[in-house]
Amino acid sequence: MSTVKARALVLEEPGSKPVLAEIDVLDPGPGEVRIKIAASGVCGTDGHAIEGTHPLARWPVVLGHEGAGVVESVGEGVTDIGVGDHVVCALAVPCGTCRQCRRGLAEHCNSPARRQAMSGVMADGGSRLRHGGEPAYPFFGVGTLAEYTTVRRQQAIPIDPALPLDEFCLAGCGVITGYGAVLNVAQVRPGDTVVVVGAGGVGANVIQAARAAGASTIVAVDGIPEKLDLARTFGATHTIEASRDVAAELRAIEPDGADAVFEVVGKPELLSMCLSLTRVGGACVMVGIPPMGAQVTFDAFTLNANRRLLGCRGGAVVPTRDIDRLVSLYRGGALNLAGLIGRRLGLDDVFEALDQLGRSAFARSVVVF
Ligand SMILES: [Zn+2]
Ligand SMILES: [Zn+2]
Repeated sequence: MSTVKARALVLEEPGSKPVLAEIDVLDPGPGEVRIKIAASGVCGTDGHAIEGTHPLARWPVVLGHEGAGVVESVGEGVTDIGVGDHVVCALAVPCGTCRQCRRGLAEHCNSPARRQAMSGVMADGGSRLRHGGEPAYPFFGVGTLAEYTTVRRQQAIPIDPALPLDEFCLAGCGVITGYGAVLNVAQVRPGDTVVVVGAGGVGANVIQAARAAGASTIVAVDGIPEKLDLARTFGATHTIEASRDVAAELRAIEPDGADAVFEVVGKPELLSMCLSLTRVGGACVMVGIPPMGAQVTFDAFTLNANRRLLGCRGGAVVPTRDIDRLVSLYRGGALNLAGLIGRRLGLDDVFEALDQLGRSAFARSVVVF
């Protein structure tokens, strides 16, 4: 093994513009693996990091957090995964030893070890990436908009090599968040009426997960007509243009309101509207990531009618469990990944994908290496 050079999308300091640069990717240390990235999605959260609205503790950062690739080398003590194995990069991995993990509630792990991993710092306190000779930190511990990256073993989830990496890269963030919101958080049941506000890359997955869970009525709400067309291809039975009176239009479809309403935009001002769309006993899930410190006002009496207002940290997933579930759904035809990809592009064109974030009609741009 020796250090490899890799082109990567680097954000040097707060407020800076991302640049393509050559970085050094050091050998994997004990319990780590180096991955040759095959494909990486470009997600809105990368955009938030560039805008400075995503809290980042360490700089510079190698962007990208929806990746899949092939294990290039493994560090000491890694015996259950080897060179040539295909993996999906997982963002947040439970520590396995804290009280929540020991109680079987790994999705709620909030240990310092988990937070350290997500900030791109290895167990020994170091980073395996160098930019201009200085340490750089992989976004969410993975930094997938790079030709190579070194991650903790737990952040590399093996998948069958027959599965397409340029599709399964999306499983790491947008897809698993949408699935987790439906299956882990709201626990949608057959026959439910579901409303999804925001039909982008994550919203499309909330829609297809709701369909897989047996929801009979799925209403997509978005301001971009092309996204509503896309929503129908993922299983939306009804669509509402966001500028219309959403509450009135939903009443025409389902007079009692929805069993589950998903806010997938991250706008706090939408949350009270979403809560008001729920039926008695219904659930409102905040899937979108609001700016920190944002305040929300709603009629507290709404909750008196057994309504539930639920948080959703990345779909409350446990990657080892939930990526396997995604594979099963994919094999059964219930998970459309190819349809999420608006276009594939090279790393040199990544800036076009960043410009399109939030504005584009198609769900995702995927950088293929
Ligand atoms: Zn993401
Ligand atoms: Zn834990």
